[in-house]
Amino acid sequence: MSDKISIAIDGPAGAGKSTIAKRVAKELGFTYIDTGAIYRTMALYFIERGMDVSDETVVSSLCAHINVGIRYVDGAQHVFLEDRDVTDFIRTSEVGAGASKISAYPAVRASLLDLQRDMAEKDNVVMDGRDIGSVVLPNAEVKIYLTASVEERARRRYAEYVLAGQECDMENIKKEIEERDHRDMTREISPLICAPGATVIDSSHMNIDEVCAAVFELVDKAKAGKESV
Ligand code: C5P
Repeated sequence: MSDKISIAIDGPAGAGKSTIAKRVAKELGFTYIDTGAIYRTMALYFIERGMDVSDETVVSSLCAHINVGIRYVDGAQHVFLEDRDVTDFIRTSEVGAGASKISAYPAVRASLLDLQRDMAEKDNVVMDGRDIGSVVLPNAEVKIYLTASVEERARRRYAEYVLAGQECDMENIKKEIEERDHRDMTREISPLICAPGATVIDSSHMNIDEVCAAVFELVDKAKAGKESV
């Protein structure tokens, strides 16, 4: 039996998925895959061209022809759009909202599915997103639904934007998060859900070390389960 382990971490915007996933991947020597960055990269394609991300017909007709890629530079994930490194351009709220809109279109999700699965085939991975445990890697050995209260998530996003020198307003951030949650949870295809078999971790009152410890415990259990088979 293979001793390969995949860890799927899903949850709403600002729950701390990427912080936790990165730390866990580093400590375990796994590859971290941020799937939100893939959707953001595709959204950037349309935004940079002044196209309307709300136009499902246009976005759907083009998405399969857009070249989105992931490469690792000094251990960090970089995303590429038509072979241009766009890692530094995808972290704005405009691109996040665009990603949330286009990710509701079935054609967009279908066009990005193989890229995600192929990456998880090669290595032990920690993959974070919205539908990893439910759709992309339903057989992942460890599945986690990481969440936190809206207030706490808004506070964390606010701190991130301030650190990045971006102008922001707490009330607007909270509103954006609530809108994004609603869109991600109510869309018809691959909505954000707690996947069957996933463990819920509510990080509202937990620090990073405590959340990581909870994840490592689940990984140890999964490893022990494999050894006993
Ligand atoms: O996680 P992040 O905020 O970077 O994701 C941006 C958007 O991409 C999310 O709001 C969600 O709509 C979409 N997404 C998705 N499925 C994933 C990852 C992200 O639909 N696996």
